[in-house]
Amino acid sequence: EAVVNRIAAGEIIHRPANALKELIENSLDAKSTNIQVSVKEGGLKLLQIQDNGHGIKLGDMAIVCERFTTSKLRSFDDLSSMSTYGFRGEALASISHVAHVTITTKTKDSNCAYKASYSDGVIIPAKPGAAAEPKPCAGNNGTQISAEDLFYNVPTRRKALKNATEEYNRILDIVNRYAIHNEGVSFTCRKIGSNTPEVHTTTTATVLDNIRQIYGSSVANELLSLEKSYPVYQLKIKGWISNANYNVKKFAFLLFINHRSVDSPAIRKAIEAVHFINEEEIIATICDAIQDRLGNANVSRNFLTQTLLPQVSVKSWSEEASSKKSTP
Ligand code: ADP
Ligand code: MG
Repeated sequence: EAVVNRIAAGEIIHRPANALKELIENSLDAKSTNIQVSVKEGGLKLLQIQDNGHGIKLGDMAIVCERFTTSKLRSFDDLSSMSTYGFRGEALASISHVAHVTITTKTKDSNCAYKASYSDGVIIPAKPGAAAEPKPCAGNNGTQISAEDLFYNVPTRRKALKNATEEYNRILDIVNRYAIHNEGVSFTCRKIGSNTPEVHTTTTATVLDNIRQIYGSSVANELLSLEKSYPVYQLKIKGWISNANYNVKKFAFLLFINHRSVDSPAIRKAIEAVHFINEEEIIATICDAIQDRLGNANVSRNFLTQTLLPQVSVKSWSEEASSKKSTP
């Protein structure tokens, strides 16, 4: 049973950054407005997230790491949407099968926080012989989740991930994406032991402010805003695109669908393949790619996307677009 679960976990959690994406989405689902990520050895030694969301009720603590345990209401539409995981109550379970998980959480109605450690989906006693139940402790409203020694029990996977710097860069990339997309939520990401966070956004910043904070003014000042609704498809597209004439050092392609960060090579390729670009054409390309990706699935297409699109090679772009350029 444990082995089967460990294999299943490996399918979802390939590396620290995947685990972090799930944890961030949970914090956002819990309506957090402040999310702090701390990392040791690229998240392999420790991956920790602290939020100020609604917390987990004491009565739910025993089961949150069980497979298919979810407190989130959803419909068939949600399940068949593009979000692969994160809707099925599998994330925490998966992480607890491949790491030592500790959750400290406090709801606003509770006088104190509660803390529990988990292994293979269940609470483990704090000391040998002690009861396997959450322990009351001090803490602020919200939830802190720590995943330690990721893949301690999957030696082949652990060995494949020996470059902590690379894992840290992937973590930064995930935090950057969510930090840019989520207006009204402040994010920090730091290595444990370092005082200055590498990502730091504020609750009052707009998406454009966040882009400026993370990619710099030189990128942010050149962005063109795209926005379009397709009522027929219940599709709404919103985003920013950089001017090809500008030499953007860091190539970025951020795509969110229904507020979930989505890695879609199909959509990315489709956008990169467009050469004569005007706003209409970019939007049409994105819509086509999203619809392709959805296939013939009979689902309502209630999407809101927020994209920071890659630089595209267009010569006449700046003249055409200059009137619509964002004001810094
Ligand atoms: P899912 O997100 O699909 O429900 P998860 O395994 O990611 O499944 O999480 C299981 C449950 O644990 C969630 O439904 C939620 O009730 C609770 N939970 C997880 N993380 C948090 C958090 N940061 N704040 C509040 N509740 C959380
Ligand atoms: Mg989740």
